[in-house]
Amino acid sequence: MDDTIVAISTALGVGAISIIRVSGSDSINIVNNIFKGTDLTKVSSHTIHYGYILENNIKIDEVLISIMKAPKTFTKEDVVEINCHGGLATTNKILEILLTNGCRLAEPGEFTKRAFLNGRIDLVEAESIMDIINSKTELTRKMAINGIEGKISNIIRELRQSIVEVLANIEVNIDYPEYEDAILMTNNLLKDKVNHIKVKLHEILEKSENTKMIKEGINVGIFGRPNVGKSSILNRLLNEEKAIVTNIEGTTRDIVEGSFLLNGISINIIDTAGIRDTDDIVEKIGVEKSIQILDKVELAIVVLNNNEKLTKDDLELLEKTHNKNRIIVINKNDLESNIDLDINNYENIVICDTTSTDGLDSLKNKIIELFNIGTIDDRDLTYLSSARSISILKQCLNKIDEIEQAIINDIPTDIIEIDLKNIWDSLGEIIGETYQDELIDQLFTQFCLGK
Ligand code: GDP
Repeated sequence: MDDTIVAISTALGVGAISIIRVSGSDSINIVNNIFKGTDLTKVSSHTIHYGYILENNIKIDEVLISIMKAPKTFTKEDVVEINCHGGLATTNKILEILLTNGCRLAEPGEFTKRAFLNGRIDLVEAESIMDIINSKTELTRKMAINGIEGKISNIIRELRQSIVEVLANIEVNIDYPEYEDAILMTNNLLKDKVNHIKVKLHEILEKSENTKMIKEGINVGIFGRPNVGKSSILNRLLNEEKAIVTNIEGTTRDIVEGSFLLNGISINIIDTAGIRDTDDIVEKIGVEKSIQILDKVELAIVVLNNNEKLTKDDLELLEKTHNKNRIIVINKNDLESNIDLDINNYENIVICDTTSTDGLDSLKNKIIELFNIGTIDDRDLTYLSSARSISILKQCLNKIDEIEQAIINDIPTDIIEIDLKNIWDSLGEIIGETYQDELIDQLFTQFCLGK
């Protein structure tokens, strides 16, 4: 962390301005050595200065330089930002000059990593920075800003605090049995406390999974025999001609993906090759892929043809999807009805034809109903959303179950205390109060360069 690092922080391309960011103890000196204008080593913190970047006394660009002195900066180190003219040549040239004058090129996410390691932000806040950069919808933006403000981390801190109180109580009981002011943490009392933690963990997990849906969207697969109208439905939903539509069976050989927003939630939709027995090698690969996709999607849309009797393939598909979140679309409703599906035996049926809009609207409304996304705007967006945090929460809940069992089995409280301490540690991993170096390295390399 002794190096002074540099990176281009704005997107590379043609634009009015580019920002090059430098962080580290030498940043002001290094930039001052290549700057013609005010002496930057003598200026106050959080000031902006006009001048030129020089190389061998030749003017390279006219710039504005922001000086931000430690510790009140993003990385808690001295930070200098150079606003130069946009475009590849100038920006890269200034970067190159800084590299030859003592800076090292920052790794992806290294500025944010330094902010974390120097205690400026916690891990949830760091992940939220990544989320705000990547956010594509208004809801994901709102969620990310809650994370950056630390609201989400506070929920975890409060829960950890309530665990610490129980741990402290157990410790006092063990170390100072004569101390009468401390409540005796009997197994019965512990049971109540543990239950309280469990309820809280459950609540956080449930809401976090909800937030994950807001962030990542819902993965939806469209399944059905060839020619039932899968690609036509996809096209209508996406409002663009993304899939190839023909009336020759087996045309959609590969998997077509696209997404659209429904009440602010991204519906990531996948049209698969028709699921059926086939001898065509290329088509067969597509069919195998679509069966794999069935396992990955949160919703299966099974398309049937209203104009034809059910086939063995249709029945098999209905069987394969029957344990999944599923919508059955009876398509081609504009044609004569020959389908022999007993609709009383199935739920979530939508009658549709891709030549009109009514059926498509019913399909969208069914998705809204199934995932309860009608009132998404009113939801509390102050929850965790990273797969990493959600998996830690699940591990904590498993541990809580073990603790509950231990209490029933009358295991001594000092043994239970160890498991409780583990939960406290794991929750610390969410906000980064306890962490492994590899995890930190891996997490921050997911950032873009210059952040
Ligand atoms: P896929 O193989 O399941 O993807 O089916 P396609 O979307 O390629 O559609 C196969 C054929 O059915 C095309 O000629 C479409 O124009 C036609 N088709 C799709 N939906 C409907 C519909 O609702 N009504 C009618 N009459 N034809 C449809």
